[in-house]
Amino acid sequence: MADAAVLYTNAVLIDDYQQRHLGNFLLHSDGSWTKSNGDEDVVETIDGTRRLITRSFQNWHTHLPMQLNARDFSDGLPLDEWLEKSIFPTEMNLTPDITKVGTIAAALEMIKTGSTFACDMYHFPEAIANGLNEAGLRGFVCGPQTHWPPQDNDDGSVKRELDRLLSTNNPDNNVQYGVATHAVYTCGEDTLLSGKELAEKHDAMLHIHISETRKEVAECHDKTGMYPVEYLDSIDYFIPNKTNCAHGSWVKKSEMRTLAKHKAAVVHCPSSNMKLACGGTLSLPAYKEAGVNVRLGTDGPASNGSGLDMAHEARMACLVQRHDHWDAAALLAKDAFAMATNGSKDWAVWNLDDIRMTPYGRDNNRHISNLIYNGAGCLDLWVDGKPLMKDNEVITLDQTNVINNLNDAIEDYYSDIESY
Ligand SMILES: [Zn+2]
Repeated sequence: MADAAVLYTNAVLIDDYQQRHLGNFLLHSDGSWTKSNGDEDVVETIDGTRRLITRSFQNWHTHLPMQLNARDFSDGLPLDEWLEKSIFPTEMNLTPDITKVGTIAAALEMIKTGSTFACDMYHFPEAIANGLNEAGLRGFVCGPQTHWPPQDNDDGSVKRELDRLLSTNNPDNNVQYGVATHAVYTCGEDTLLSGKELAEKHDAMLHIHISETRKEVAECHDKTGMYPVEYLDSIDYFIPNKTNCAHGSWVKKSEMRTLAKHKAAVVHCPSSNMKLACGGTLSLPAYKEAGVNVRLGTDGPASNGSGLDMAHEARMACLVQRHDHWDAAALLAKDAFAMATNGSKDWAVWNLDDIRMTPYGRDNNRHISNLIYNGAGCLDLWVDGKPLMKDNEVITLDQTNVINNLNDAIEDYYSDIESY
């Protein structure tokens, strides 16, 4: 692709090493940046005065279509009851069209809050991929291999469809398909291994919830004599460098070493864990000591009660890590920012006139802390040199339509739930 650089003048840019730069910058379509000499051909020049350019957020655990669920959906229920009484019955009403409407609504929130990537797990993956592509976002869309409705007809059709989608994966696509095996408490050994084989066949991402609650861990131990990571290791579940494990809260140190051995990544989802009263907190210091790659994710909007705002999630990670470890340095804002943007090739541009971004400190040295602790208005968002949003106006989606479609879809989705 020919370079199509955009020039920001008089801006502040935070690079991949969190070094601050002041001046005129070219953002190239391959995701790189350079300082401007003032004589380059550019597709656009933007006044960057009072704007902060950073890498965009990367959300490593989502259920995007759950944007259809209200934030307080079945508020007050613990995870097992929340799933069995509320979420699974509601999901019987899902259709590809409703799934896409929910995905697009989630994409709108991602764009507005500076995220350009989601690693998702949900039903009807093609509808989700279509939604992300329309919005111009990146993603791993992991389709389910589980024993729960609405998709599982016991006729193998869900697996065949996912196999077909996985065969369309291409490194040039911004949205790739992967395989989701929901959890050890919803998937039997045959499902876990057939999901692993499918992911392996296509060299694709394998996505799972691991040790989210104490109950899940105790039940796994009762049934197998092993804790979840031990059990998954015993059946040879993990694919090196390709397994993305959400939560990982109730995990022993020996299990952390097992995850490290398989180069499995773990995704910290602090808001979700606290909203669903999971009790245990992913121990960041212990995971670091074991050498595990720890990422950050929001989980679904209904499970975390706070949507897809990664700056907010990074703040929650800072708070819960410190609180749980009695250590004010357990996770600093700059390190939470690094976790939340790790691997990003895209750019978010933040409004420094937002009161939440002040005071900005001598030599602009408070920007990252302000962004993580306070949040800020995202003005522009760039993927592959293309703007998804400029001046806080979303370009790839019609915001009014997205909101109207979401509210209309909910009429169908919750048609048999009076209290919604
Ligand atoms: Zn989840």
